[in-house]
Amino acid sequence: MNRLHLHLPHLEHNYKCIRSKLNPETALIAVVKAGGYGSDPIKMAKRIEQLGVSALAVAYAQEGASLRKAGIQTPILVFYPQPEGLETLVENELEPCLYSTTILEQFRQLLQEKNRTHYPVHIKYNTGLNRVGFPPEKVDWVLAQFEDQRFELKSVYSHLAAAEAPKETPLSKTQIQSFLKLKAQHQASLTSKPLFHLLNSSGVFNYPEYQFDAVRCGIALHGFTNRTEWDEQLKPVAELTSTISQIHQVKKGAFVGYDHGWEAPQDSVIATLPIGHADGIGRQFGNHKAKVLLHQKWVPIVGNICMDMLMLDVTGAPCKEGDDVCFFGSKQSAADFAKKGETISYELLANLGPRVERVTHE
Ligand SMILES: *Cc1c(COP(=O)(O)O)cnc(C)c1O
Repeated sequence: MNRLHLHLPHLEHNYKCIRSKLNPETALIAVVKAGGYGSDPIKMAKRIEQLGVSALAVAYAQEGASLRKAGIQTPILVFYPQPEGLETLVENELEPCLYSTTILEQFRQLLQEKNRTHYPVHIKYNTGLNRVGFPPEKVDWVLAQFEDQRFELKSVYSHLAAAEAPKETPLSKTQIQSFLKLKAQHQASLTSKPLFHLLNSSGVFNYPEYQFDAVRCGIALHGFTNRTEWDEQLKPVAELTSTISQIHQVKKGAFVGYDHGWEAPQDSVIATLPIGHADGIGRQFGNHKAKVLLHQKWVPIVGNICMDMLMLDVTGAPCKEGDDVCFFGSKQSAADFAKKGETISYELLANLGPRVERVTHE
């Protein structure tokens, strides 16, 4: 059937490669949101924890709760806490990243009800991505929230909008300036010493000089940086394989798939795989956009991808039912495959569905 092989030694290699870009005192926050980028969040988190990571991060509280249930002890940041998740967050000793007056006040209220003090929190500023975060003009209001002992401010951060660009764009420069100013304002007013951080994976490779006290890496742990040159230093963790269910001999002029998707230009051999758009192989990969590896030969996906299946033209590529094919791995990485469907590694990996078995290789 369909398997996503996860090569944990590659994860370890990537972790060490990222660390090699950092000063010894810089903390690494490993981002394991979205099912560990479609992998196996618990296995990933456990291995990263063994490697001595400073903290983990997820997007939403329930993702952090399932890591705690699996026995993960490392601090876990929740990047985008929602009102409904605050209770879960406290029950699981997760650390919220507070990004608006609304969520900050709701969280303060909850801590008051639970009679909790010194609760570890993080503050997110919006310096130009315009997604979430306090506007920098709110800094005095934010600083005033730390006058009592309700919260313990562990870190202050922002997020670049264009960290993939090899050189800082004008927007990145503005964001960096704004963040430096916020850092100075916090340091001038606080007695505590929170960490400051700005960079994601691409940022670490492109501008390590802005690593501040910590960095937040997700995709690089999986082997990708959004730039081919840097990717060469990393190893793809995930390898997606499927198995041929059936083989058909079709005559020239036969149609393959829904909606007359493909018409055979010659007598052809078609192999059907038990994987479709419900498993994360979107329709955009069909109709010859993507190729997969079958016994060292590249064969195209023909016709429209179905919900549960897709078809390959295997004419001239000897194979039999039960043979394995590889969508992505070492020969064609998830980033390469994603490009064929005009998407990116993040989306491809995070879309892999629950019917794809995750198999970890220690
Ligand atoms: C997802 C996320 C990251 C990790 O980004 P990568 O590009 O995968 O390294 C870092 N910071 C924040 C706030 C995020 O949401």
